Amino acid sequence: MSRRDVIVLGGGIIGCATAWELAERGKAVCLLERGTVGCEASTAAAGILSSQMDVEQPGPFFELCQASRRLYPRWITRLEQHSRISVGFHVDGIVFLAVTESEERRMARQARWQTARGLRVERWSSREVRRREPSVDGRVRCGFSFPTEAQIDNGRLMQALAVACRKARVDLRERTTIRRLRIRHGRVRGVETDHGPLEAPVVVNCLGSWASMGGAFPLTLPVEPARGQMLAFAGPKRLLRHVVMSERAYAVQRRDGRVLVGSTIERAGFDKSLTLEGIHAILCGIRHMSRALDRCTFREAWAGFRPSTPDRLPILGSTPIDGLYVATGHFRHGILLAPLTAQVLAELILTGRSSPDLTPFSPQRFVKK
Ligand SMILES: Cc1cc2nc3c(=O)[nH]c(=O)nc-3n(C[C@H](O)[C@H](O)[C@H](O)COP(=O)(O)OP(=O)(O)OC[C@H]3O[C@@H](n4cnc5c(N)ncnc54)[C@H](O)[C@@H]3O)c2cc1C
Repeated sequence: MSRRDVIVLGGGIIGCATAWELAERGKAVCLLERGTVGCEASTAAAGILSSQMDVEQPGPFFELCQASRRLYPRWITRLEQHSRISVGFHVDGIVFLAVTESEERRMARQARWQTARGLRVERWSSREVRRREPSVDGRVRCGFSFPTEAQIDNGRLMQALAVACRKARVDLRERTTIRRLRIRHGRVRGVETDHGPLEAPVVVNCLGSWASMGGAFPLTLPVEPARGQMLAFAGPKRLLRHVVMSERAYAVQRRDGRVLVGSTIERAGFDKSLTLEGIHAILCGIRHMSRALDRCTFREAWAGFRPSTPDRLPILGSTPIDGLYVATGHFRHGILLAPLTAQVLAELILTGRSSPDLTPFSPQRFVKK
């Protein structure tokens, strides 16, 4: 039997990025996915890489987002070279539209502590918003521009990761469902799947919203799905110059003209239904910002599950079971946080240490003392 060092569970962005990183560092990796690579949240996402706009306070989570954003350009270059797939990474910037006084105050506070850290945030008057982002014609008090924020075509990113994993000799097995872990004497030994058992001394749980394995995971892992509904339209190219956001909705345009608008955050279990209420809320939010999108033509709609934790922070690190690691709970930031998650998990598995310190994200924080 050939050597197998690590089994990675889940072929979303977190599992694929981690498997690729470990394989590039010389490990024999097997990646197990119930459906096909990227079939859940990682393709459902909008692909906005917001390491500033979407982070309300300084702290370890902000540092994690910043560190991952810094890794992105080189990670993408490496991925595009290995896969020969272009993944549409563009530093278009995000404009947040403040409609109410309290939104303006909150964002001004955020701009202050972020600029004090040397990051770029610009306050635009409503007139400047219209000049610099002509698609915005709704009534806004002001805008906050985050010019170094980026977007990526996450669908293409998942295709590229699948190719890169295969090239790096990851044993990528789709349509393989994990049923339970094999654990003996406090050490993980492998997994049971619907195609039989697989052995390895290291197992990494990257199962996104399914990380608790319906109660079969041997430790407390309070991850729940937070449904997000999304709509896609076709519009004239460069209709949007930036990613445009408000408290109510956001719109992001790809270079081929596709406009994605989203999204809801709902507790609906694993129900992927699209609802009148959800679609109405998104469309009202968008039309509040812009009537320029009115002539875009509808293409498709879908829903996906963000892996959500009680404190809205990811769960990253080792567990009390030897050889068993967790990387899940990335909620709204999994696309952004993938390069750093892969890097720190690989370091932790290979050396027993990690930088940044993962204590605030430890799986142990949910264990009742
Ligand atoms: C509508 C929406 C918009 C979003 N927008 C953004 C955004 O703009 N920017 C951003 O950074 N993030 C965004 N996110 C969040 C991001 O998509 C997630 O944080 C990220 O995709 C999580 O990746 P993952 O690999 O952990 O999970 P997933 O992509 O869900 O992968 C988990 C995988 O595990 C597999 N699996 C589950 N159970 C089993 C089993 N028993 N056996 C085998 N395989 C199994 C599943 O099939 C799945 O493929 C968005 C999410 C949604 C839903």
